Formats: sequence, C-alpha cells, structure tokens
Amino acid sequence: MSSTTLFLVPTPIGNLGDITLRALEVLRDVDVIACEDTRRTRKLLAAYNIHQSLISYERFSETKKVSRILELLAEGKNVALVSDAGTPLISDPGSILISQARNMGIRVESLPGPCAAIAALSASGFEGPFRFIGFFPRQKSVAQREITRMSLTSDHTVFYESPHRIMETLELLGLSLGDRTVCLAREISKIHEEYIVGSVREVIERLKDRKMIGEVTMIVHGSSQEEAIDETVIKQRADDLLRSGFSKKDILRVLTEETGMGRNRIYDILLKIG
Ligand code: SAM
Repeated sequence: MSSTTLFLVPTPIGNLGDITLRALEVLRDVDVIACEDTRRTRKLLAAYNIHQSLISYERFSETKKVSRILELLAEGKNVALVSDAGTPLISDPGSILISQARNMGIRVESLPGPCAAIAALSASGFEGPFRFIGFFPRQKSVAQREITRMSLTSDHTVFYESPHRIMETLELLGLSLGDRTVCLAREISKIHEEYIVGSVREVIERLKDRKMIGEVTMIVHGSSQEEAIDETVIKQRADDLLRSGFSKKDILRVLTEETGMGRNRIYDILLKIG
C-alpha cells in the first residue's frame, strides 16, 4: 500500500473551537483539501490561518471531480476530504472517492471529530444500540415504512430533518408513536443550542406556537420490550420485508431481533398472515 493518504477530516458543526489539533495539523500539511463549498472551507481555514489549495467536491459533481482527485493521489499528493460541517460521508458526499482511492491502494485515514448525530445521541441520554438513517425520508410510503420499523425495533433511531419539515414529521410520528420518548436536538454547539426531550405529543405541544429555525437532529427512543406491540404493526413490517425479498425464515429472525419478542409469538402472528 502506498503511503499517500486520503484523510477524512471532520470540521465543526457550529462552534469553531470544535476542531481537533490533529485535524488542523492534517489540513495544514496535506497538498490539497477537497471540500463541498470552497467559500465555507476557506472561512474555516482563515480562522486558523491556514492557506491551502482547495478543490471542490460536491455531491452533484462527485463522479466528475473524483477523477481529478484520484490523479492527485496517483501523483503522490496527500488529500484531505472535508464536508461543509461535521464528519464526511455522514449524510455528506465521499463514498465514490473513498472506494476508488482504496482500489488504487491509497491509504484512507479517518480522523474522529464533530458529528451532529453522535453529539445529539450523547446528549439524549438514550443508551444502547441505535440506527442512523440519514435524512428522514421524503417519500410518504418510505417514511411510513421507517415509522413502522421505529415502532418495532428496540434500537434508537437517529435522523436529520430540516427545520421547515420537523413539525410535519413529528405529527406523522405522533400518529403511531405518540407516547414514544424522543429527543429533538437543535443548534448543537451554537448560541441557541437546545434539547427537547419528552413524548412525541409533548414535544409537539411545546413547539406548536414556535417558528422552528436552525439545524435539527432527532432521536426516537427504541421500543421498550414491556411496551405492548400492536400486531398490525408487526404484520405491516412482515409485509414490507416480504416485498423486499426476505424469506419467511429471515423475516422471523429480523422481527425477533427488532421486537425482542419470543420467536414463537412472532411465528404465531406470522401464521395469521399466511
Ligand atoms: N456530516 C454532518 C455531520 O457529521 O453531522 C451532517 C451533514 S447533513 C448534510 C446536515 C444535517 O445535520 C442538518 O440538516 C441537520 O439535520 C444536522 N445538523 C448539522 N449541524 C447540526 C447542529 N449544529 N445541530 C443539530 N443538527 C445539526
């Protein structure tokens, strides 16, 4: 493997001070920084007196820009990939670049650092396994499937949402998960940082007369095993899995894992849907 390296460098999601010493060192030392918005990255670099060559790497031009960055790596140039904020590839572009760089034998190093999903999860106080689903799905049927999964799984679900859509999304969640505890994390590490924790209904009540602004990350607490799980929800999830090509045996395994219910009970419910 060559010693040429593609560094993945997280940047602050609000507070400029949240950049690591190592991130600054790498940003200073590499030959070029690939970034989404060059103006935004230049501002960050200026705050730390770093003068670097930048190459833009946005999602819509990802395929085109990848070849230029791969050429630089092939010439032995070290490259740092940053996104506008937070950790690259966490709902941000970069996957094509990383897989192709790896295919060329380029070393990939990931620096730990700011990430809204992880900061929100940590502040929620919800401990245990979680699923990160990126941005909440826009398409109604996909959103509904996601909510069904949330109602069954004991994993917490972390997602990103725009402030303009958050009320609509909470109301959709409220239809099936009104009593479920959620944590709405807003403006993490910024002046108006706040965490609203409560049932979906309580959070809707608290927000209903407010204009939501700023960046939002949501966490829906996983289903607790004592919670009575509606059989119709299990049937709906089984139907979804069947349509996605899962065998009956796999459906039994997935639902047992997701609900924490006994295999026999799930088996009985599945028998009813044939
Ligand atoms: N890669 C980034 C990361 O590691 O957090 C996420 C990029 S994604 C395009 C942007 C979304 O992250 C925002 O729409 C919002 O949902 C969430 N987000 C970013 N900064 C945030 C903050 N300071 N507070 C709460 N959520 C934030």
